[in-house]
Amino acid sequence: MRDPKSPILPGATIGVLGSGQLGRMFAIAARRLGYRVHTYSPDVDTPTGQVADLELRGPYDDLAAVRAFASAVDVVTFEFENVPAATVEAAAAVAPVRPAGSVLHTTQHRLREKTYLKEHGFPVTPFRAARSAAEVAAAMAEVGRPALLKTAGWGYDGKGQVKIEAPEQAAAAWAALQSDEAIVEAWVPYACELSVVAVRGHAGETAVYAPVENQHVRGILDLSLAPARVAAEVAAEAQAIARRLLESLDVVGVLCVEFFCLPGGALLINELAPRPHNSGHLTIDACVTCQFEQQLRAVCGLPLGSTELLRPAAMANLLGDVWQGGTPDWAAALALPDVKLHLYGKSEARVGRKMGHLTALGPTAEGAAARVLEARARLTRSAEIAGSRG
Ligand code: AMP
Repeated sequence: MRDPKSPILPGATIGVLGSGQLGRMFAIAARRLGYRVHTYSPDVDTPTGQVADLELRGPYDDLAAVRAFASAVDVVTFEFENVPAATVEAAAAVAPVRPAGSVLHTTQHRLREKTYLKEHGFPVTPFRAARSAAEVAAAMAEVGRPALLKTAGWGYDGKGQVKIEAPEQAAAAWAALQSDEAIVEAWVPYACELSVVAVRGHAGETAVYAPVENQHVRGILDLSLAPARVAAEVAAEAQAIARRLLESLDVVGVLCVEFFCLPGGALLINELAPRPHNSGHLTIDACVTCQFEQQLRAVCGLPLGSTELLRPAAMANLLGDVWQGGTPDWAAALALPDVKLHLYGKSEARVGRKMGHLTALGPTAEGAAARVLEARARLTRSAEIAGSRG
């Protein structure tokens, strides 16, 4: 293995575990800087594989195949945090894995993550573990109501979550969750949701983006605005927490911290992602250095780039729902010249599936949001008009 202190320079090969849109945007950034990219996942013709130099298909538990993948690259990173620990260990035996498997282990399980945060003095909403309907009811008595029941592992985008208003609903909520381990969280009456994308390099240097304001629909991110419309002290506190977390978890790479901001400005951490995040996609078009290039720089031991926001921006996700009335009207959206289109190369547009996003720049965050929503509305307007005629 190479000297871990020497940087991995352009021309080298980066291995990505996982093959979704985060890997795709990472691979685009890496190839722009002259690196080669290999991706490993159970699928073919994937968003990442379409732009990588090599797409390897195999199950995550085929440890011999994972070792072979890792031995052909200079460093391994991931774009999907539910990669099993044994897979990461197999890769780490033959190549550096950044961020380390320990970061993945803490953040891929909600209960472990919240326990870590609480034990290390980070602010979180009250929570309890539950392994039966009776424990859910008992946890509710302690955390209060309403409460949110979430699966402990493998949850994302609001999947595996049930809101419970009263203890009598505990049994039905537990049955609906179909999991043997869960977390019961006190419902947070937040004023807004924020996220901070932060990066830490090899020597412990950090770079932190300005907080982004996020709006979710049915548990899935819908719209992000930058800069977030919060007081300067709140923004600074969110960035300080993100920096402390990078250090506490010893991250080499990107970490996104999702926050609830209470009406008085207090912050609670909702969850962590040890990788670029959907709310950071607007950094591609709006910042000096995007979150994917930062991931590359961090895992390669290169200096980090500037996180400066060049213009206020907003990002709107494009879910498969947009395709349900026929092919979206791309030209109508792109007729707004300050709107940028990103598509992930997924062939099947299922309802709720993240297919792409739009970013708009504007004079203010609100102005950019209005613009990006107008662009998204244009995608389906002609189908709606045709529908109303038919
Ligand atoms: P998660 O999958 O945990 O990120 O949750 C998805 C979304 O559900 C969050 O972004 C919030 O909009 C909402 N949510 C999650 N946990 C809570 C909570 N404890 N209180 C209120 N809303 C929540």
